[in-house]
Amino acid sequence: MRGLMQHAPLLISDLIRHAARHHPRAEIVAKLPGRIHRQSYRETEHRAKQLAQALTRLGVAFGDRVATLGWNSHRHVELYFAISGMGAVVNTINPRLAHDDIGYIAGHAEDRVIFAELDFAPIIQAIAPNLADTLNMVVFLCDAAELPALDLPSSVTVLAYETLIAAETGAYDWPSFDENTASALCYTSGTTGKPKGVLYSHRSTVLQAMAVNAADSCGLRAVDRVMPVVPMFHVNAWSLPYAAAACGASMVLPGRFLDGASLYELIEAEHVTVSAGVPTVWLGVLENLRKTGGKFTSLYRLLIGGSACPEALFEAYGALGVEIRHAWGMSESSPVASMAAPVPGDDGPSAHRHRLSQGRVLFGIDIRIMREGAEAEWDGATAGDFELRGHWVATGYYRMPPSVNAEGWFPTGDVGMIDPVGFVQLTDRSKDLIKSGGEWISSIDLENIAVAHPAVVEAAVIAAKHPKWDERPLLIVALRPGATATRDDLLGIYAGKVAKWAVPDDVVIVDELPHGATGKLLKTALRAKFADHLLGSKAAE
Ligand code: ADP
Repeated sequence: MRGLMQHAPLLISDLIRHAARHHPRAEIVAKLPGRIHRQSYRETEHRAKQLAQALTRLGVAFGDRVATLGWNSHRHVELYFAISGMGAVVNTINPRLAHDDIGYIAGHAEDRVIFAELDFAPIIQAIAPNLADTLNMVVFLCDAAELPALDLPSSVTVLAYETLIAAETGAYDWPSFDENTASALCYTSGTTGKPKGVLYSHRSTVLQAMAVNAADSCGLRAVDRVMPVVPMFHVNAWSLPYAAAACGASMVLPGRFLDGASLYELIEAEHVTVSAGVPTVWLGVLENLRKTGGKFTSLYRLLIGGSACPEALFEAYGALGVEIRHAWGMSESSPVASMAAPVPGDDGPSAHRHRLSQGRVLFGIDIRIMREGAEAEWDGATAGDFELRGHWVATGYYRMPPSVNAEGWFPTGDVGMIDPVGFVQLTDRSKDLIKSGGEWISSIDLENIAVAHPAVVEAAVIAAKHPKWDERPLLIVALRPGATATRDDLLGIYAGKVAKWAVPDDVVIVDELPHGATGKLLKTALRAKFADHLLGSKAAE
């Protein structure tokens, strides 16, 4: 017997329609060069409808890909809702990638239109000539008076965003269609090989937005003012624009102003209550606060993920009255798969360990550990490869063969263990794991310990080749300006914290560690430079 309940497809347009109808007091605040822009969800939906009308008029059809090269701004929010809402696919492109990769993505996705910030005019100039077969239009996120002069193929029209939407009335009804329709396309940065496209659906996005709002997840509420520092050009800003619309939270969007001082100033000026980003961003904010002695008056929670959050960061923000919630996920899991929140009976050491872990999977996702072809125990000690399955986990990549196995499990490329209560402890990406004489050494654990040293700003541990043990850990650190530390000082902090055989063999001090396009440590670059460091050195003996 079927239930007698209504059925409607889960569509992204429902999110903005809901926010516009039911949350009139919430605002979208965007930091633009020289000014702060504010608008309500109602205005946001109206402008998104104008945009959908304009794109329809220009011939963008259901299923067409439309790209963005944008900062976190009100216009980017409008693009998210307009493009997906009309049934087209928003292809968010990371402007920090190499021009070749950006050109590759826009070609592979066959983007018909690219919306770009003025800052990215040089990218457009570099890639557009090679995209003449598929690209019809470039729309700069600006007024007509600000349009840059570019030398583009004659088949590519250049327009200003504000002119484009001003020509429309906004009298537009969001269409209804199958909830499994593609909504957004985000390419993973591809530290090796070409970027691969993860193609989200309306259903996966709406379900993840609702899961993200749960109290043990990001826990967003209508009274919150959430500032996604995590870029809208990478994994949908961890779904926060969708989640904020679903619960009516206000959004504060920092634009291109991502240094520690600017972020702190915006948090205070706009009374931000919750924010989200990779650890490097929060290290930057902390460094600034250490210099200025500033305090937070509204911020109470930070969502940190993308790479492991060091213990030192939990302590420093805890002392400032800010709770850190540690999250884990990847482009292929939309991205939020797990989040660390307490469970009953959690006090003392287990509470501490759980808080630092990658957390428990959200309802809607399942996880397992695979080791040598079989599922491993959840004993907190047996490490293996994590696999995910769930409503917002990819089956494969755009225009590539499926990646999941017959039962739908997706191999994440991450390695770690799960404790008996279900807390995920990630030890490494499989490609970063250090395999020393048959033992696995976690680079994440060693990095966490190193950044607790007062002289260290940032640390990376890589697998360096070793004549006897195959690989041994090598610690590479950047020091605080003016600070000094010797090799023995730095290695001394491991005493009693890890097994003797896990202590790094040597230390390299550098001015700065390299970061990839999503702000994470670029270990491939470090391995290319330092993999042979221990060969023939005294440390290897
Ligand atoms: P990429 O960095 O390849 O562009 P993603 O942004 O999808 O792609 O990165 C996902 C990866 O980031 C995960 O597979 C995992 O290795 C790492 N990661 C994400 N969150 C955490 C975390 N909390 N702790 C450790 N590693 C994390």
